[in-house]
Order: sequence, then structure tokens, then C-alpha cells
Amino acid sequence: MGSRKVTSSEHLDWQGKHVTVAGLGVSGIPAARALHARGAHVTVVNDGDDARAREQAAELEALGITVRLGDGATLPEGTELVVTAPGWKPDKPLFAAAREAGLEIWGDVELAWRLRGPDAAPWLAITGTNGKTTTTQMLASILKAAGLRTAAVGNIGVSLLDAVLGDEQYDVLAVELSSYQLHWAPSLRAHSAAVLNLAPDHLDWHGSMEAYAADKGRVYEGNRVACVYNVADKATEDLVREADVEEGCRAIGFTLGTPGPSQLGVVEGILVDRAFVEDRHKNAQELAEVSDVNPPAPHNIANALAAAALARAFGVPARAVRDGLRDFTPDAHRISHVADVDAVAYVDDSKATNTHAAQASLAAYESIVWIAGGLAKGATFDELVAKSAKRLRGVVLIGQDRALIREALARHAPEVPVVDLDRTDTGAMLAAVQEASRLAVAGDTVLLAPACASMDMFANYNKRGDAFAEAVRELGS
Ligand code: ADP
Repeated sequence: MGSRKVTSSEHLDWQGKHVTVAGLGVSGIPAARALHARGAHVTVVNDGDDARAREQAAELEALGITVRLGDGATLPEGTELVVTAPGWKPDKPLFAAAREAGLEIWGDVELAWRLRGPDAAPWLAITGTNGKTTTTQMLASILKAAGLRTAAVGNIGVSLLDAVLGDEQYDVLAVELSSYQLHWAPSLRAHSAAVLNLAPDHLDWHGSMEAYAADKGRVYEGNRVACVYNVADKATEDLVREADVEEGCRAIGFTLGTPGPSQLGVVEGILVDRAFVEDRHKNAQELAEVSDVNPPAPHNIANALAAAALARAFGVPARAVRDGLRDFTPDAHRISHVADVDAVAYVDDSKATNTHAAQASLAAYESIVWIAGGLAKGATFDELVAKSAKRLRGVVLIGQDRALIREALARHAPEVPVVDLDRTDTGAMLAAVQEASRLAVAGDTVLLAPACASMDMFANYNKRGDAFAEAVRELGS
């Protein structure tokens, strides 16, 4: 970790500034409104030109904001700054033109960071390939248990812009950040941050694993108190080492094993802190029991430790860590137990949309009938299948890229029975659950952990999980 002084040039004069907002949508509309309200000349550009876009455009135009529909590629004349929806790919012609003109490009997070007030609450930031939402919610729960005014915001469905511009006063924010958001957030400086893990995902967007990792690593830039990394995932520690942080900022590891000094870990079923204690070479502080973590699957205990590390970096007492973890219940579709039918457990982890998540999920059960498949997003399945083969009673495949999984199974688990449903229609989930129930024997777990995105068959992973739960209910009725 190097050290650097953060200079604050955040509070700009927006009067008369020509800003192009790329993308009408959940982040673009509030961004356009906020900038317009500060006196900027705002032009919104949008690729689509459908009825919904026209409706949204009309509302903005009524305020005096210019909107160009059907052309998200051309940079409007006179643009001085581009503010983009985080999901827009960096190789878009609009950005090439902006870079050519020497302009800065900010995402929604950067904008929120720059627009926040002088007394704004510090940010505790969380990123990683998997576990972000869960860890961010755990952190918010712990901070609340400590009596702090806080919210879980960012990539979690609560816009950072709303959080920083709203009337609500916060002491601290628990901020989930995606790799896209970090890509477009060059000057963000968190109080402390964690990268939970790093595995290939969204490589089609970032271009390479190196570029993806570099964007995740931005979360550590300028941290003031702690950079939290995963001891079991060296890539996260490497990112800490490469980060430019404030003088005195510490590297704090979390581990499922016994913690060393400056780490949080687990000793005989107890979550312990050997980082934020006096004389960490001799002392450790008990935080909570493993059974306080819901659900106590290994990857989720890791999430709890990361949340605890950030909370402790903010000065939260040990008891609040325990109370906050006890109060926490995970969101739907994250290893949620749907029902037991004929002594077989049916578990919905529809949110396991990549191989790294599915691997964590599969590692939490002994004997599994695995329902997998969907959009692979450029992933390969060899490692996942090889590591999980011994736990598989059988596999049911659905979705567009299922052949990739089938081939990996043939290579690494040829003895495991596979039912390839050869279907990508929504109704396939019912058939998948029925097939899985045929393969399962008493004591098994039928696990929906698709290792793929859902959009080939469903509107999103929620709908996929709902279809699974519905199919399980039909099975049981
Ligand atoms: P994210 O917000 O990063 O997508 P979530 O908390 O929503 O993360 O969890 C997504 C999925 O990732 C879960 O359903 C689970 O399968 C898996 N998961 C959660 N935490 C971890 C972790 N620490 N390591 C690996 N996989 C995890």
C-alpha cells in the first residue's frame, strides 16, 4: 500500500456547465434532474426510443432538459462532462468521443460522491464477485445495532444519489458497489472498503480479468482506515497492496481459520477479532458465534467476518456485531430453503448467477441434485464441476448455454447422471424440478444454483427463483 493525500475538488460550480447524461434509466433520470437543479445544461442521450423512453423524455423535457432518443452514440456538441449509467460498456463510441475530447466520464457513484454535502456521512464500501448484497445488509444491520443512523445503499437497489441528496441524515453508509460502478468512479474515497472475493465474471464487459480486477481494486483507493481482504483469496490481498491509500490505513484480513494479528477469523465456532483490539499480538475479542450467522454456510460466515471487519474499523463495539448478525435475514433467492418434500430439501439459490457463487453454494451441501444452466456470460465450468463432482447425485440442465456444463460434466464427472432438458422456455422449471425429484433420494438437497444468468428464460433471477419455488409447491401438493 502506498500513501497519498486526498485533495478535495468535489464541490463544483455546475452553473451553465454542459453535461451529457448517457442513458435514461434508474440512474440517468435522477442524475439529469439533480444536475439540472444545480444549473447545468443537461442533455440526455439514449439508445432506445420506445414508448416508455418517450414518456420519460417528455417529463424531463418539461423541466427544460434536452433528451435525444435513438442515438446514444453521438457526443452532443459542447459537452464538458459525461455522466453515464454504470452498465454502459466502456467501448461505446460515445465514450471514445468523450475521451478524444479530453472529457471526464463519471458514473452514478462518482456523481453521488461529488454532489454529497460537506458534512456527508462516510462510506463503508463493499465489492467482490459474490456476497456483496448479503455483506452490505449484514453491515447495515450491525451499524444499526450500534445505534448508528445508516442505510444499505448503492448497487443494492437504493440509489446513492438519493441517499446523499435526500433529507435523511446518516452517520455512515453501507455501500455496495459493482465493478461497473467502480469503473466509472475515479475519485471515490471510502472510509474503509472490502473486496470479498475475485473470480471471473462480466468479462465481456470489462474486456479481461485484469481489467475486471483493476476496477474492483479501485474500491481501496484513498481508504482512510482499513482495506479489508479475504485471506483465502490472494487476488484480493494483491489489490490492497497495489492501492494508494491514506497514511495509516491498515490491511485487515478475514479468514474462516484461526486469525493472525490484524485479522478476523473463527476459533472453535466463535467469530473473533484480532485486528481492532489492544495489543493484537496477544489479544483477541470475541464477536459472535457461528450460529449467530444466518445461514451459517461457510461462504456466509466469510461475509459476516467481512461485515464485522468494516464495522469494527468504524469503531463499532463487539456486542453490536453479534446483535446485528442475529437481526439479519438474507434476501430471497440466496440459499433459501423452500420446502422439504419426501425428505428431500429444495433450496433456491437462483442468485448464484456465476460459477464462483454456485461453487460456494454446492460446497454447503453433502449430496445434491443440481439444477443448472442459463446464460454463461463467457464462463467455463471445468473447475466448478471438478470441485463439486463428489457431491452430485445428479444434474438437471436447462437454458441456452447448458451444453457447456454438460461437456464439463462429461469430462470431470462422467458417472453422474445428467438430464438435459433441451428447453429454454419458462415452463421448463417445472419439468426440471420434477426430473430432479426423480433423481433425489431421502436426505439429498435439490439445489437451484444455476451458475448462469437467467435472462434467456426469465426476466431476472427473482423470477427464476419464484418459478422454482412454485414448481416445488406443485410437487408437494
Ligand atoms: P452479490 O450482491 O455479490 O451478487 P449476494 O449476497 O446477492 O451477492 O449473493 C449472491 C450469491 O453468491 C449467493 O446466492 C450465493 O450463491 C453466492 N455467495 C454469497 N456470498 C458468497 C461468498 N462470500 N463467496 C462465494 N459465493 C457467495
